[in-house]
Amino acid sequence: MPYRAPVDDIRFILTHVVGFDQLSQTDRFAEATPDTTAQILTEAGKLCEEVLSPLQRSGDTHPARLENGVVRTSPGFAEGYRAIAEGGWTAISAPPDHGGMGLPQTLGMAVNEMLSGACLSLQLCPLLTFGAIEALTHHASADLQALYLPRLISGEWSGTMNLTEPQAGSDVGALRTTAQPNGDGTYAIKGQKIYISWGDGDFLDNVVHLVLARLPDAPAGTKGISLFLVPRNIPDENGAPGARNGVRVVSLEHKMGLHGSPTAVMEYDDATGWMIGAPNKGMAAMFTMMNNARLGVGIQGIGVAQAALTHALAHARDRVQGKTPVQDGSGAIIDHADVRRMLATMRAEVFAARAIALSCAVSIDMQAATGAADWAVRAAFLTPIAKAYGTDTGIEVAQTAMQVQGGMGYIEETGAAQFLRDVRVTAIYEGTNGIQAMDLAGRKLMDGGEAAWRLLAEVEQTAEQARPLLPDLAERVWDAAESLRETTEWMLTQDMTQRFAGAVPFLRGWARVLGGQAHLAAALAEGGTGPRTALARVFVDRLLPEHAAALTQARAGADALYALSDDDFAA
Ligand SMILES: Cc1cc2nc3c(=O)[nH]c(=O)nc-3n(C[C@H](O)[C@H](O)[C@H](O)COP(=O)(O)OP(=O)(O)OC[C@H]3O[C@@H](n4cnc5c(N)ncnc54)[C@H](O)[C@@H]3O)c2cc1C
Repeated sequence: MPYRAPVDDIRFILTHVVGFDQLSQTDRFAEATPDTTAQILTEAGKLCEEVLSPLQRSGDTHPARLENGVVRTSPGFAEGYRAIAEGGWTAISAPPDHGGMGLPQTLGMAVNEMLSGACLSLQLCPLLTFGAIEALTHHASADLQALYLPRLISGEWSGTMNLTEPQAGSDVGALRTTAQPNGDGTYAIKGQKIYISWGDGDFLDNVVHLVLARLPDAPAGTKGISLFLVPRNIPDENGAPGARNGVRVVSLEHKMGLHGSPTAVMEYDDATGWMIGAPNKGMAAMFTMMNNARLGVGIQGIGVAQAALTHALAHARDRVQGKTPVQDGSGAIIDHADVRRMLATMRAEVFAARAIALSCAVSIDMQAATGAADWAVRAAFLTPIAKAYGTDTGIEVAQTAMQVQGGMGYIEETGAAQFLRDVRVTAIYEGTNGIQAMDLAGRKLMDGGEAAWRLLAEVEQTAEQARPLLPDLAERVWDAAESLRETTEWMLTQDMTQRFAGAVPFLRGWARVLGGQAHLAAALAEGGTGPRTALARVFVDRLLPEHAAALTQARAGADALYALSDDDFAA
C-alpha cells in the first residue's frame, strides 16, 4: 500500500483546532496565508507519495553499511535526499537572510510528519539538519552563521547532534569528551560519541557535527558542558569542503529497525572545533536543538502512525473473513465490529496526537513572532507531551495496525512489521519518554502550576463553547479537566520521588484531556454532526475514560515501589 499524505486532516487541524490563522496576522508570518499553506502541504505530500515512500523498503532491506571508512547509504536514498533538499523542504522555517523561506515552524513540522510517514530513516537526516540550523541561528557567531547556515539550509551539508557517550545516556552531564583551546580561537575535540544518527553518508558533501564537550577545568555535570561545531571537512577559503578533520565513523550499529539511518560510533581525535555560544553554556545552546528535535520526534511517531493506519485500512477493506453484521457490506473484515474498533481507535489517537503537536508548534511560532513569554511557556509545557504521546501513538498504532492485518501483518514483506520496528526507537531517543514525563511532572511545574492552569482554562473554554451543541461530550471533557487539575495540585505538594513514580501516567492523563479538547473543537467546527463528530465520540467514549485510571496511578506514589527489594522484582 503506497503512502497517502494526510494533507486534508493537517489543514483541518491548522484551520479549526490549533489557531494557525493567528500566525498570518503577525508581521513575521504574514505570508503564511491559507493559500500558501495549502500549496506547501500539497507539494510536500506529492514528494512523499511519489518519491520518498518507494524508498521505505529499500532502507529496511539494504541497511546503511560502513565500507573502508565510507558510509554507504541505502539504494535511492541519495536521490531522495536530493529531492528533499532541492525542494527546499529542509529550510521552510529557516531564516530568509541565509536562504530559508522564513515560514512558520508549524508548517515545517507538518511537512516533517509526512516525510516521516513516507520514509522515517531518511527523514531523520533533514530533521537533525534542521535542529543544527536552529542552534546556529540562535547561538553561533555571525561569521559561523555566514559560513555554515546557507549550506545547511540548502541541504548541501547536513547536521548531526552529538550528546551520547557510553557512560552518558540520559545523564548527559556524565560526558567526558574534552575540548582543549588551540590558542587561535579553535579547540581540539577528543573523545568518543555513540549512537550518532546520520554520523556520515556517501551523498553528503559535508557533515556538520554539533558536539558537547568539556573545557579544561570545567565544573562537573551539566554546568561544565560547552557546545562545539566540528565539520567533517574543514571549509576552505571559498567555503568549499576542504581538508579532512580528525573525526571518523568507527562503526555502525545493527538495530531493530530504522536500518536506512546510519547510527554511528564517532571518534574525535583532536578534531578542530569552533565554540557555539558561551563557555560552559552548551546545554542551553543544545536545548534549542533538543526542544526542536523533541517535538520533531513526536511528529515522527505521528507520521509513522498515519502510514501504518493507511496500510491497515487498505488490508481491512480487502480481506474477506467470516460473516459480518453489515447488510450489503463488502463482506471484508472492515465490517466486523472489533476491526472497526481498532481502526477508529487508531484514527482517533492519530488525530489527537497531531493536534497536540501542531498546537505546540503554533506556540513556538507565536513566541517567535510576538516575543511574548506566555507562548514560550505554553510551548515548553506541551513539548514533553507532544514527544511522548506522539511516539507512544506511533508504537501503539503500528502494533494495532499489525493486529488488523493478522498473519499478514507479521510477515516482513507486507511492511507492517517495519513500521513497528522503525518507530520503536522514537520513545527512546531524544530523551526517553520516562524522562519526558519527569520533565512534565518536575521542571514544568516549577512555576507553581501556572502553565498547567492556563492550559486547563483553554480546555474548559472549549468545553463551554461546545456545551450548547454537544452537551454530553462537553461535560465529560470538562469533568476530565477538573480531575486533571486535582491531580496536578496533588503533584505540586509532593517531593520529586513521589511525582516521578507517577510521571508517565500523569503525562498520559494530560494527553487524554488535551486529546478530548482537540476532538471537541473538531466536532464543533463540523457543526456537531458528521465524521469528525463521530470520531470525537469514539475518543470521548472509549479513550478519554482512561484518564481516570491514569490519574489514579499518577497519585499512587513511590512507597510500594521502594518497599520491594531489588531481588523481589525477580520472583
Ligand atoms: C537509533 C538511535 C539513534 C540515536 N541517535 C542519537 C543521536 O543522533 N545523537 C545522540 O547524541 N544520541 C542519539 N541516540 C542516543 C539516545 O538519545 C539515548 O539512547 C537515550 O538518550 C537514552 O540513553 P541510554 O541509551 O544511555 O539509556 P539510559 O540512560 O541508560 O536509560 C535506560 C532506562 O533508564 C531510565 N532512566 C535513566 N535515567 C533516569 C533517571 N534519572 N530517572 C528515571 N529513569 C531514568 C530511562 O528512561 C530508560 O528507561 C540514539 C539512540 C538510538 C538507539
